[in-house]
Order: sequence, then C-alpha cells, then structure tokens
Amino acid sequence: MIKEIIEPARHIPVRAEVDILVVGGGPAGIMAAQAAAADGLKVMLIENRSYLGGNLTIGLPILGFLGRKGNEIIKGLPSDFVHRLQARGQATGHRACPLHVSLTMIGGEASKKLATEIMEESHVDVLMYTLCTDVIMEDHTVKGVIIESKAGREAILAKTVIDCTGDGDVAARAGAQIEKGNDEGRMQPPTIMFSMRGIDIKKLRESVADHPEEYDVDIIPNEFFRTDANFTFVGMRRKIHEARQAGMNINVERTIIMTGIAPDEMWINMSRVNGTDALDPKDNTEATFEAHRQNEEVVRYLKAYVPGFENAWVDKVAPFLGTRESRRVVGKYMLTRDDVLQGHRFPDAICAASYPIDLHHPVGGDCTLEWCDDCYDIPYRCLIPKGVDGLLLAGRCISTTHEAMASTRVMSICMATGEAAGKAAQLAVKAGVAPAQVNVSALQDALRQEGVYFRPEE
Ligand SMILES: Cc1cc2nc3c(=O)[nH]c(=O)nc-3n(C[C@H](O)[C@H](O)[C@H](O)COP(=O)(O)OP(=O)(O)OC[C@H]3O[C@@H](n4cnc5c(N)ncnc54)[C@H](O)[C@@H]3O)c2cc1C
Repeated sequence: MIKEIIEPARHIPVRAEVDILVVGGGPAGIMAAQAAAADGLKVMLIENRSYLGGNLTIGLPILGFLGRKGNEIIKGLPSDFVHRLQARGQATGHRACPLHVSLTMIGGEASKKLATEIMEESHVDVLMYTLCTDVIMEDHTVKGVIIESKAGREAILAKTVIDCTGDGDVAARAGAQIEKGNDEGRMQPPTIMFSMRGIDIKKLRESVADHPEEYDVDIIPNEFFRTDANFTFVGMRRKIHEARQAGMNINVERTIIMTGIAPDEMWINMSRVNGTDALDPKDNTEATFEAHRQNEEVVRYLKAYVPGFENAWVDKVAPFLGTRESRRVVGKYMLTRDDVLQGHRFPDAICAASYPIDLHHPVGGDCTLEWCDDCYDIPYRCLIPKGVDGLLLAGRCISTTHEAMASTRVMSICMATGEAAGKAAQLAVKAGVAPAQVNVSALQDALRQEGVYFRPEE
C-alpha cells in the first residue's frame, strides 16, 4: 500500500479572474487563446515551460494541412500561423507526401517567437513557469484551476477553461472519464528529437533516388527524392539490419529523418522507449536517460550507414521527451478508427482533418499507417468532456479511441481543434451558457468567418 499523508486545507491567493483560461501553450493552446481573445474577452494562458509552442518547437514538420486529394483542408488561424512563418523564411509551403499526406517544415525558434507575438497582439495574459495542478469545482462544473509556481500555490478563476495540456491534466483532475492506451492499456512510445547539421542532403537524395536496391523507402517511390528537397525519409530497414549485425544497438526498425529549415539540417526521430507512462515522472526520467543513450547510437549509425551524414554533427537536442500518447478524455462523442478511415461527416463538424492512423507500435520497434480516402470531420462533441461542465478539450487529449488518436494527434489537427475550442469558449461566455449548450451552427459560422474550411455538401 502507498504511504499517504493528509494535506491540511489552507487559504491560497486568487491570482486572476478571467473569462477564458487556456491551460497549455502548445499548438492547440496558442490557437485556442488567439481564437478566444478575438472579441475583447479577458483570456489567460498558462504554460509550465519557459516558452510557448509545445511540440511546434522540436523540429517536427506540421503534418496534415492537406487532404489526400491535395487541397488545403486546415485553414483559419493555423494557416495564418504558417503564412507568417513563411514570410520570415521559417516555413515551407505545404508539400504533398505519399506517406504522411502533407508536410510543412517550420522553424522551432521562430515558432516560439511568433506564438509570443500573437499572444501579445491578441492581448492574451500569458503566465509561464506555471503548472496547473488541480481544479476548482462546483458540483460538476469547473470554476477555475489551482496553479503551482515559484510564487507558491494560487488559484485562477475562469468562466470557461480549455484543457490544451496534451495529457488532459485539467480534465483528469475535474473527474472526467479517462482512457489510456490500446485494449491492453499500452501506449505509443515517446522519443527525444534531435537535429544534425553539416549533412550533404543532395548526396542523400541522389543516393536514395539512384540506388533503390540499397536504400529501401517505406511507401514513397525512391524517385520522389530526386525532385523534392523538403521531405521526411522513412525506411532503410536493410541498413538498420546491417548495423545490428555489425553490433549496433538500434531500437527502431526504420530510419526516420526529416529536413529542417537550414539547407544542411535534418531532424532525427529514432529513439523510442516502449512501456513509458508519460504521466509518471519516474518513467519519464528513466525514458529520458534511455532516449539520450539511444540517440548516441543513432548518431553512430547515421554517420556510418546513411549517405550524406559522414561529416554531420549534432546541433540541437529537444529539451523534453516527446509524448505521443497519454490520457484520452471521454467526451460526448468518441471519434473512432472507422470515422477516420471511412471519412465520416458529422452535422456538428468543427473542422476537417486528414492524416493516416499512424501507430508507433507500443511493443517492438515498428509502425503501421492506414489512410482514409480524403478527409474526415471532427465533431464538436469530441471537445466536450462527458459529465463535466465549464471545460473544453483541444489538441492531443480530445475524445477519441486509441486508433483515432493516432490520426488526430498531428499538429495541424491539434491547432484546428484549438481554434474551435477557443471560439466555442468565446460564444459560451458571451451567451452565459455552458460549452455544451453553445449553438453549433453559430460556432460553425464564426469559424467560417475566420476562414476555417468545412467540407462541401455532397
Ligand atoms: C516524437 C514525436 C513525433 C511527432 N511527429 C509529428 C510530426 O512530424 N508532425 C506532427 O504534426 N505531429 C507530430 N507529433 C504529434 C504532435 O507533436 C503532438 O500530438 C501535438 O503537438 C499535440 O499538441 P498539443 O497542443 O495537444 O500538446 P503539446 O504540443 O504537447 O503542448 C502542450 C503544452 O501544454 C503544456 N502543459 C502540459 N501540461 C501542463 C500543465 N499541467 N500546466 C501548464 N502547462 C502544461 C506543455 O508544456 C506544452 O507546452 C509527434 C509527436 C511526438 C512525440
């Protein structure tokens, strides 16, 4: 039995009283705060790190802006974000990709800076270095949160709270129903991203295009690399096999490397620590140590086996372990694998989305992908936790099954659900109703006015 103590009740200061509180400043959170603040409401964003952007800052391309038919299906505020990065030379356009449907490379540091600028322009009150640790409830309604920082334990009261923590921290504390993992409770493994510079990317592309017999690629034709300079490369299973035979300890089956913004830069997504529970600090600590160890071996592998990496060096290492999966909050509707793969439509759609069910297997070192024909809808009900009022969900923790989450987790979709949650919170506060009572067609109209794409009637 776990030893317990009783924490005495105490008076704590109320740091702020706001209309809308966004918890978590990643892709979902910055969009939620921007959308919520557009109408003069008092909006606050709290973030436990020293910068905004979450996983936008660790070298990942944003996946999912295009549908499989090639048209842009995520527009609105996420699209504005990318256009502003592009104007600074810090994002590529959206590139169609046979494997990941679409990729948009972005600069991590530039994303942090832009996110901060947008919060300032939108008059969002940002509080960083602050962890949300609990909620303030009245019956089943969230009335605010408890935060912890160097200033101690404080409260923030809010008319509506949006959980953009990725891990569903607020919803879990509010007593929402939570699910984790697949049928056996196993979750996708985490990774520490890092970048290398000094890579001869032309040599890499030509080698892959010229020697398909040597450099196998998953799904993407080798010829693709002759013409496209911005790419995610997934494959070289045979090289990994060779490296293992030569005594290297590589934990993944595939080489996963992606171009960045600088011409000699690539980001490496090749550590994985199976069996990690991202909600347990001890697990996270051990997985962090282990991922760093794996990355050292990955660097040796890349320099020895992957053309163009011979003279490369490690440039940046992500400051945290990237979590692919943790809590999923059960909402009024739970998006399923069928909804994704069959491209289901919903009358309460708040955005369209397109990305395969991309499952990094919880056991072993492999991954599988399954695609829909073009795109699917995400219904508003996935953003509303069942049985809890005053709270909305956006980003990775929205209401889906384990498999559907393997599609909705990519950042364009997280940004789109963030924008929708922010707009819904705004409408709820202005009408003085709970998020579940928001008029959905008014929400859809408001999103359309911001440029959000909805699928045309069939
Ligand atoms: C290794 C890896 C590779 C991936 N590859 C891609 C890819 O190539 N392209 C792609 O589009 N997606 C990719 N994804 C998925 C994607 O990055 C995430 O699913 C997405 O960023 C989730 O967005 P979010 O806003 O919900 O959460 P996050 O990006 O995790 O942001 C959550 C924010 O909330 C803050 N926070 C959390 N808890 C609290 C709290 N209690 N109090 C205060 N602040 C808190 C965090 O510090 C963070 O800033 C990848 C994920 C991983 C881990």
